Amino acid sequence: MDIEEFRKAGYDAIDRICEYYYSLREYPVVPQVQPGFLKKALPNTAPGAGEPWSNIVDDYTKLILPGLLHFQHPLNFSYFPIQSTFAGTLGDLLAGSAPTPSLSWFVGPASTELENVVMDWAAKMLGLDRVFHVESNIGGGVIQTSASESMLVSVVAARTRYLLAHPMTPIESLLIYVTSQTHSCGRKAGLVLGLNVRVLDVDEPTRVGGGLDAETLRVALDEDHAAGLAPFVLITTVGTTTSGAVDNVADVGALLKTSYPDVWMHVDAAWAGVVLACPEYRERAQLAGINAYADSFCTNFHKWGLVNFECSALWVRDRQRLIEALEYTPPYLRTKQGDAGDTVEYRNWHLGLCRRFRSLKMWFVLRSYGLNGFQGYIRNCIAMNHMFAKQVCATPSFELVSPPSFALTVFRIVPRAGAPNGTANKLNRVFYDALLARSSEVLLTQTELGGVFCVRFCVGSSRTTPADVEDAWNIVCEVGETVRARFGKGLPN
Ligand SMILES: *Cc1c(COP(=O)(O)O)cnc(C)c1O
Repeated sequence: MDIEEFRKAGYDAIDRICEYYYSLREYPVVPQVQPGFLKKALPNTAPGAGEPWSNIVDDYTKLILPGLLHFQHPLNFSYFPIQSTFAGTLGDLLAGSAPTPSLSWFVGPASTELENVVMDWAAKMLGLDRVFHVESNIGGGVIQTSASESMLVSVVAARTRYLLAHPMTPIESLLIYVTSQTHSCGRKAGLVLGLNVRVLDVDEPTRVGGGLDAETLRVALDEDHAAGLAPFVLITTVGTTTSGAVDNVADVGALLKTSYPDVWMHVDAAWAGVVLACPEYRERAQLAGINAYADSFCTNFHKWGLVNFECSALWVRDRQRLIEALEYTPPYLRTKQGDAGDTVEYRNWHLGLCRRFRSLKMWFVLRSYGLNGFQGYIRNCIAMNHMFAKQVCATPSFELVSPPSFALTVFRIVPRAGAPNGTANKLNRVFYDALLARSSEVLLTQTELGGVFCVRFCVGSSRTTPADVEDAWNIVCEVGETVRARFGKGLPN
């Protein structure tokens, strides 16, 4: 391709991106396709001769786009948001065009230092203590691919710290602590590392919607220590996946610090951590506890933080803990600057060696939104969620299952008076199936909380407006009433 052809193809691709953004509303939220649809449409080997670019990109528009679940759709209220913004998209495009593997400062001076800078910008925006800033030279921030990897890296650092302090510990006595509401990646970390996981139960009905408290933790720690086991890391969560619950990070952290200082505390705030940008949510989101006690803290800017996938921000209190767990430098990776110790060598802060230039899109997003724009977006999402939650509360046929948390509402329908006991779960499954039948118009997802089947509604698309929330509520209501009417006199088998 010569430069003119390249330019033309580039303009065309940007046009397609713009058209996609501005026609999102016209797509069904969930693609109306069946498994195997794409395989049927594509040849089963790559072409022998290269094809013209226009054919390739036409197929993208014709075959691929209609087969995606559109996370940015204004009526997508499922799971947690996954963001893409113009600034993020262009950041990704430019980063991809100038590959810099950043395996050392020497290989990626600008990408490494930009990551230092944006992680400090973000730390300050969220109110994280200076010890977590790269410029403190004590802790620091690094962009990982996912909250799962951020957690895995933290657990590895915790294990190394523990084993250095207690070298005689048998590996099989090591324990990772998670709660019954910790994201599945907590247990996955145990699987990957071949370590035992203890699940602290926070699910009893009296506590639905609440998080881990210090007493539950103390009982478990005392028990395990008495049994000769070695809990070495606790995963806490600010904004659990099921209900947005918040663990009592301050109390739990204080207990660890006074009685079990060898236990590392990781705070997983993959979804909700970005609310810390708004001072009014800092108390609820446990900022003081994080600043006082967290050894590591993670929030995904690619979830509710306007940055394109992947961009998981991880901050640690003491960078040496990561480095002593992950550093291995053969001769071919040594550099003058690395040897002098004046640079951040991010390969020792994550699992891989080479890394994508992710800080560019984060820089673009933080600059183009500014703190005010970022806060405005978060506040809007929360306000729209409250609109929805208010409707749930005001409608006798619906109820909240847990208190609304930031931009998440967990709710269900209430059976009609006279319906047999214990039918609520069955009824709600039918309700959710009926809602799923409308998934071209609106998407919500299901979950279970302490044995209660419920439906989650989460606002996060930067394109969602109050009118969309109104539309979503009307569909939810209509479907709910139909289902209740159908099963008013008895329930399906
Ligand atoms: C989404 C989520 C995760 C997993 O995030 P990945 O980046 O996909 O690994 C972990 N914890 C919480 C609380 C989450 O919301």
